[in-house]
Amino acid sequence: MTYEIATLRGDGIGPEITDEGVKVLRAAAEVTPGLDLEFTQLAGGADHYAEHGEVAPDSTWKTMRSAHAILLGSMGHPDIRMPDGTEAQGHFIVNARKSLGLYAGVRPIKLYPGARGIDPNQKHVDLVLVRESTEGLFASFGGGAEISGEVYADTMIVTRKGTERVARHAFELARTRSGRPQDGDRRVTCVDKANIFRSLAFFREVFDGVATEYPDVTADHALVDSFAMLLIQHPERYDVLVTENMFGDILSDLAAALVGGLGLAPSGDIGDEHAMFQPAHGSAPDIAGQDKANPVATIVSGRMMLDWLASRHDDDALRAAADVVERAVVTTMESGALTADLGGELSCSQFGDAVAATVRRLA
Ligand code: ATP
Ligand code: MG
Repeated sequence: MTYEIATLRGDGIGPEITDEGVKVLRAAAEVTPGLDLEFTQLAGGADHYAEHGEVAPDSTWKTMRSAHAILLGSMGHPDIRMPDGTEAQGHFIVNARKSLGLYAGVRPIKLYPGARGIDPNQKHVDLVLVRESTEGLFASFGGGAEISGEVYADTMIVTRKGTERVARHAFELARTRSGRPQDGDRRVTCVDKANIFRSLAFFREVFDGVATEYPDVTADHALVDSFAMLLIQHPERYDVLVTENMFGDILSDLAAALVGGLGLAPSGDIGDEHAMFQPAHGSAPDIAGQDKANPVATIVSGRMMLDWLASRHDDDALRAAADVVERAVVTTMESGALTADLGGELSCSQFGDAVAATVRRLA
């Protein structure tokens, strides 16, 4: 089958890393019988905003809707601001999440060979953080209330519908994903603050209800404060985590530190109809145009895209392609082929070439 992939290369290092991601995905499609990937490059991002006064033209939004999936480079530039003062990047992503109904922010946290986490002795980190992306403490995004000139308030909204769908996403992921905690059980941990906030006690209650539909997956809870410490001390204990919007925002950057930084952190924004995949880092203007960025986060975001498409279309060709991309990244890094941020000597494009060649070799 042919899948149409809408691609926005974005700003800063975006074009360089996106090209390497596309290169590896093309190689995977090439070696996978019955799989065709068609990439359509779309306009949009901060540079586009500077020139045209909008983050993306209507045609981009339209194609993003009609494509099978969306792959983004990094968007945004610190100097470019929207009229309301927010970064152009934030606006594009928030717009996309809202208009495409992307409620699950999925952040795999995996330690790849050659990468060093916080604890150099830590060998096994392979967990996934699922962040509710449409409500929680971000519900009043752009609004908020002025109570008096000296007092302001934002609102935490937790709904049954919003919590059920993100909890289901987490349990499905625990069932189907290939990574496992060391003791081998499939587990979803609800990270909340149910002892203090009524809204988050409800989040836990709804989570427990969904958990009964998944008797094969262990469900447990953690309070976000003590969890932040446990995540750093014992990341090997966790499998899939599901949490409220704001907690997820903070924990995902904390978790990126566990696996050696931003160049290695992929992400997906997933809904029932659409999904968008991109590296978790920004446009890194300090190294843009020098062919030295690490494209791993983008390549692995592409692998997540193949996995999502595979389960949505129940297509084994996509599963095979996702698998070969993941093995190629691991094999390449194991061989010591690394970019400068990990102490290696390869440029961004040389690393992409190496992974693409490994894809062809492993297939
Ligand atoms: P933006 O406003 O677009 O987020 P930024 O200045 O915050 O840009 P980030 O992209 O968030 O930059 O990156 C923070 C730091 O991490 C920078 O020093 C950058 O060079 C580095 N970095 C980010 N992504 C990568 C990558 N893929 N490879 C190597 N280094 C990276
Ligand atoms: Mg940044």
